[in-house]
Amino acid sequence: MCAALVPRPQCTACLRPLSACICRWVAPTDHAVEVVVLQHPLEVHHAKGSARLLHLSLAHCRLVVGEAFAAPVWPVDGKHTLLLYPDSPQESAPDLRAPLPLPPEWLQAKSSRLRLVVLDGTWRKSRKMLYQSPPLQQLPRLALRNLPPSHYRIRKAHGPDQLSTLEATCYALGQLEGDAARFQPLLDAFDGFVEYVEQAGGQRNAQTDES
Ligand SMILES: [Zn+2]
Repeated sequence: MCAALVPRPQCTACLRPLSACICRWVAPTDHAVEVVVLQHPLEVHHAKGSARLLHLSLAHCRLVVGEAFAAPVWPVDGKHTLLLYPDSPQESAPDLRAPLPLPPEWLQAKSSRLRLVVLDGTWRKSRKMLYQSPPLQQLPRLALRNLPPSHYRIRKAHGPDQLSTLEATCYALGQLEGDAARFQPLLDAFDGFVEYVEQAGGQRNAQTDES
């Protein structure tokens, strides 16, 4: 039998093989806005994915794996729920509902009253998740502004702006909480992760960028 079928020991936190554990870059970060990451199934074991590191670092973050969400996976609890999604001209799909406008008072509300939903997938997969998930379509959207260039050089085609899920979420939280500095240690740790993946890349990662 093929020896490759024997499962390699896995880190229970980051779900990677122990030899490729990324937990040393976890940067525990306190914050007020609740985060829900909806992760495309193809991202779960992607060596270059950033959502697991984000999830392990943020104090208030849920990670839910799925592609089509027929019902909201967050509770109806009076929090204002926003979707982190780039500003783009409304696509002309007849079955896509237009998002509700973002009420300005939400941005004045206490950060602890906000919930940010983030899609983790390539740009194309994220858009497909949106199309397949009616509860996401009408969420008011948060678009990022004044973004620094991404450090996510290890992966192309992730999004039109090339930001990783971790970077986009950190910038969004910094924007919503008015405290970008709070998320800088996590962004710095992410640089270490990128460097590590870059060095390890090509040797054992057989997955393609687009998967
Ligand atoms: Zn680990």
